Formats: sequence, structure tokens, C-alpha cells
Amino acid sequence: MAMLDEAKKQLDAAFKYAAIDPESWERLQYPQRTIQCSIPMRHDDGTLRIYKAFRCQYDTTLGPGKGGIRYHPAVDRDHCEALAFWMTFKCAAMKIPFGGAKGGICVDAKTLSHREMERLSKAYIDAFADVIGPDIDIPAPDMYTDERVMGWMYSEYRKIKGGHPKDCITGKPTALGGIEGRNSSTGYGGFFVLETLLNDYIEKCGVTLRDRSIALQGFGKVGTWFADMARQKGYKVVAISNEYGGAYNKKGLDLDDVIKAQAMTGGREWGSGSLITNEELLGLDVDILVPAAIENVITSLNVNNIKAKVVFELANGPTTNEADAVLNEKGVFVVPDILANAGGVVVSYFEWVQNRNGVQKTLEEVNEDLNRVMATATHKAMERYFEHGVPLRTATYALALRRIAGANECLGNKGYFRG
Ligand code: NAD
Repeated sequence: MAMLDEAKKQLDAAFKYAAIDPESWERLQYPQRTIQCSIPMRHDDGTLRIYKAFRCQYDTTLGPGKGGIRYHPAVDRDHCEALAFWMTFKCAAMKIPFGGAKGGICVDAKTLSHREMERLSKAYIDAFADVIGPDIDIPAPDMYTDERVMGWMYSEYRKIKGGHPKDCITGKPTALGGIEGRNSSTGYGGFFVLETLLNDYIEKCGVTLRDRSIALQGFGKVGTWFADMARQKGYKVVAISNEYGGAYNKKGLDLDDVIKAQAMTGGREWGSGSLITNEELLGLDVDILVPAAIENVITSLNVNNIKAKVVFELANGPTTNEADAVLNEKGVFVVPDILANAGGVVVSYFEWVQNRNGVQKTLEEVNEDLNRVMATATHKAMERYFEHGVPLRTATYALALRRIAGANECLGNKGYFRG
């Protein structure tokens, strides 16, 4: 089934709890627009290749589109629409004034040289400059794109449009108008959600944790910072993996050792700890399992191996709907992606505001404000969790859906126009 259709099923479950007008519901069934371009890029060896590139603006009721740009061989129209769909509800759940968007290029970024990455990133902006912008749709990093890529994109956009429109892209290097703390924001923001849940709610939800041990899949921009904060706060990260495999130590991995080994070997070695596969990591007997890599890693094929008491979705869409239902039945507490990984877009919002008003936040202010926004959203979602007696995913969608529908309905609905 198409990824977007799967994603929309998560919304279906929330419909009856959000008390929304059917017209608002109907609007949210379709992406507002998806643009596809073919991008020619000359490689270092002289070969010209054409890459498929996309930008989807799923819904812009609450403000300009907001969402990352992903470089990955699996990127296609459906992929971008599903990711833009999740962004729509993520921004609404966080109560930030953005709609949902996402873009990407179908490419294996690991095969490109730095010069090729630069050319491709600038070519993306050449193709999409007229459909993005500070008040239209504001891109940011995602898988296999980072602050350097955002810097190239910003400089290309500036060249085309003129002036210094720093608010056209977030996740830029600080020297080009980026904000302190953007790199760590998704990982840290996730951690703030986790702490709020564990400290205030988890026992009331009937879940008893043993030692707050964590198994983490994905050690990129998001996973690394999450692990960093978890370590600072005394949690035990016992296993970490990436696309090549992973490492495990029941007593807790030495993170400095792991980071050093990863940096020296392009992600292929782990320093200490015994080697494990991704499937083994997912089935570890830990308190908290954190998928922080790609979609659809917890599926009907492996869900019965999951022993964790909490699944904390730092990746977008890591759990299929079928597997989600099984986890709920088993009493596993699932923290949905649109809440768990929203820290990045929250700090992107701070960056956009900073670029517009010229007032710069310090790192301490960013992290303090991030903590406040994440905790508030978590409390609001938990209010609905208890009120409706539904899984946290449905509760968070109901919260977000109500906010988007509220903006639509204040412009009038069928009843109003029929007099
Ligand atoms: P990244 O490219 O920096 O890191 C991705 C990590 O996943 C790497 O460690 C990679 O080796 C690993 N990985 C890739 N394929 C894998 C596989 N098949 N099995 C196991 N590991 C695999 O990306 P990121 O920015 O850290 O994003 C990770 C996830 O978080 C994505 O789902 C992304 O959409 C989501 N996310 C990112 C942000 C952000 O601010 N970067 C914000 C919200 C959500």
C-alpha cells in the first residue's frame, strides 16, 4: 500500500475524537500540491545524470509549508507526500504557525563527492526557487542533508532572489544566520518529551520500567544527540546501530568510544561492545526502544520480538500500522513520531523568527524554550490520551487535527453559508 495511504490511516483513528467539520476532514485527505522536477547534474568524471526531485506542500492552513529535504534512493512522490503529511500534524501538535511540507532527491548521497553534493543541492534550488520561500515553504535538513547543504541552498536562493532572505531555509550554519542548537534540537527535543512522559505519566499508564535502558537504531544527526542527552541525564544506552550493523553492551556503551570509532571508519566500526544486527537490536530486552533511522522497521514480521516497554519514534514512520496495533495490544507504550521528533521543527521555527526579527537567542535560551514547548505539547497530548482512552498516537493526531480544523472553520462552513 502507498505510504501516504498508510499514514492517513493514523489520522482516521483520530477523527471521532477531534470533533471536526467534515469539510476540514475532506481537505486533509489530499496534498495541496506536489511538484516534481528533473534535475540534470554533471558528475566529476564528466557524465551528465538526471535526478528526480520533489517538493510536496501537504497543507498550509496554519502557515507556510515547513519540512526537510531528503537525499535517499527511496525518495519518490508518495514518500514525500507521506512525510509532508506527518509534518502537517507535527507542526499543529506543537502549535507552531506552519503547515506541512517535505522534499527530496532520489539519489544515494553516499556515492557523491562534495563537489557533486554542492552542484546537486544548488540545482534543487534552481528548480524549486519559485515554489519555496520565507512565506511560502521553508526547507530544512533531513536524511543525508545537513547544515552545509542548507548553506549551499541558501546561497543559491539568495543569488536567484537577491537580498538576504535568511528566513527562506532553516538548519543553516550559524555563520549564515542559523540558530544555536539546531543540530541537537531533534535529539534533545525528543529527550525532553521522554523525560516528561517518564517523570509525570508512565506509571499512571500502567508501565513499570526497570532501569531506563535504551536501544537506539540510527546514529545520525538525530540519534547521536539523543544519546548524548540520555547519557548526560544518567540513562543507560546499551545498544546502537546504523545501516551497517550495531554494538551492544548490557552495562551501557561507552559513547565517546563509539563516536570516535564511527568517525574514524565512516560508521563501520563501534569501538567496544559486541556486534549485533539491526534485527537483534530491535528485539533487545530493554526499557526503551528508539528507532531513529528510517521508516517501516517495526513490522508485522518482527513486532512479536519486541520486548521493550516503550517504543519512542524518533524516526518518521518507523512502525507500520499493523505492528502499531500489535504493540498497543501487548501494552507497549508507543510515543508517536509527530510528538517524539518534533524538536527539529520547533527550533527551525525559532530560527525563522530570529531571521525575521534580528534578535538572536543563546544556546541556553534555545534549549530552555525547546524544553518548554516539547513539555507543553506532551502534556496537551496526554490530556487527550486520558480523556479519550486512546493510544498516544491517536491522542496527538486528535489534538493536531482540532487545531487545523479550528483554523478552517473560523472562515465559515456549510452551515454558515446556507444561512
Ligand atoms: P541521518 O542521515 O543523519 O542519519 C540516519 C541514520 O540512520 C544513520 O546512522 C544511518 O546509518 C541509519 N540508517 C539508514 N538506513 C538504515 C537502515 N536500513 N537500518 C538501520 N539504520 C539505518 O538522518 P537523521 O537526520 O538523523 O534522521 C533520522 C530520522 O529522523 C529520519 O527518519 C528523519 O526523517 C527523522 N527526523 C529527522 C529530523 C532532523 O532534524 N534531522 C527531524 C525530524 C525527524
